[in-house]
Amino acid sequence: MTAPYLHFQAVRKTYGDVVAADRVDLEVPKGEFMTFLGPSGSGKSTTLYILAGFQEPTSGDIQLGGRSILPVPSHKRNIGMVFQRYTLFPHLSVRENVAFPLRVRRQSQAEITQKVGRALELVRLQEFEERMPAQLSGGQQQRVALARALVYDPPVLLMDEPLSALDKKLREEIQLEIRRIHQETGVTILYVTHDQEEALRLSDRIAVFNAGRIEQVGSGQHLYDQPATRFVADFIGDSAFLSAEIESVQGGQAAMRFPDGTRLGAVPLHGAGAPGQKAELLLRPERIGLSETGSGETAALEVTITDVTFLGSSTDVRAETAWGEGLFVRLPFSDPLSQSVRRGQRLWVSWEANGAHLFAA
Ligand code: ADP
Ligand code: MG
Repeated sequence: MTAPYLHFQAVRKTYGDVVAADRVDLEVPKGEFMTFLGPSGSGKSTTLYILAGFQEPTSGDIQLGGRSILPVPSHKRNIGMVFQRYTLFPHLSVRENVAFPLRVRRQSQAEITQKVGRALELVRLQEFEERMPAQLSGGQQQRVALARALVYDPPVLLMDEPLSALDKKLREEIQLEIRRIHQETGVTILYVTHDQEEALRLSDRIAVFNAGRIEQVGSGQHLYDQPATRFVADFIGDSAFLSAEIESVQGGQAAMRFPDGTRLGAVPLHGAGAPGQKAELLLRPERIGLSETGSGETAALEVTITDVTFLGSSTDVRAETAWGEGLFVRLPFSDPLSQSVRRGQRLWVSWEANGAHLFAA
């Protein structure tokens, strides 16, 4: 087996008593778009800065192409970086901003002209060469920053919340640009965001950070379908959690009992759970359905409809269990009930195998 391209090995960083990153283990193949997703303060930037060489780890190692990068000074690591705030040199034109990394590397004027032209073409800003940063919109400035980070063909590009200062429409536009650039260049990207939708749009795989640790790594679909922890389940996708108690455990599945005494058959169990232990049942609004009877389904639970919102392509239905916990169901337009469901109705929530997950508390 060949060594992974980029390999974080038990990376740890402390600031006094604060553990910013802990036991970060991650393998990133060449050309992957990897996103660090997690709430503010969960250690995403710290991990990225250690790779860039702006911070030293307290312990652990990072290998690139089979060699530790820790002995290599930051400016020799050849890693491109784009930050949240525009970091263009205000007194330099767009062309000179992008040329800067090449001038530092003492490349010839002919090479500089050619590479700057290509980088600006990549971000579609050829006509803006002569402009000064102050004459550009926020989105254009971030594209210049991207061109400057890519101009010397770094093998790895780091982006730390590069779009969070932009409004939603512009953000989505540049997300598409970033995807295209990733496809065209094949550069390995490590991207930081706290926005799950952005992570899902962009990434091949996502590493979910929580309190300095990576809780799970996988494709967006994998994290959504097979969340390893309640934190991941809550962070990726919409979800409702119902309180339950584990009744029995067998082969990775558990049967449960709800606060009103209702019992329910086996669903996949996550975490070490034993009979009698408290747990939470995850229900995804898109993965559950409503029906007028509770029979013939894999699992079903009687609820009262508390609110109905018609949204055109779907109908969002809020419901309450017999013991007063809320959940919501997203009925597709194609479901006849999406047209007829009414507040106050008593219906059954049901789901297919794997449509629900139980997390031991
Ligand atoms: P994120 O990027 O996920 O928001 P960070 O990596 O910036 O998180 O921060 C992780 C933790 O480390 C936070 O608790 C933060 O306050 C702390 N931290 C980050 N940088 C420093 C620093 N230079 N000095 C002290 N604490 C820091
Ligand atoms: Mg950060």
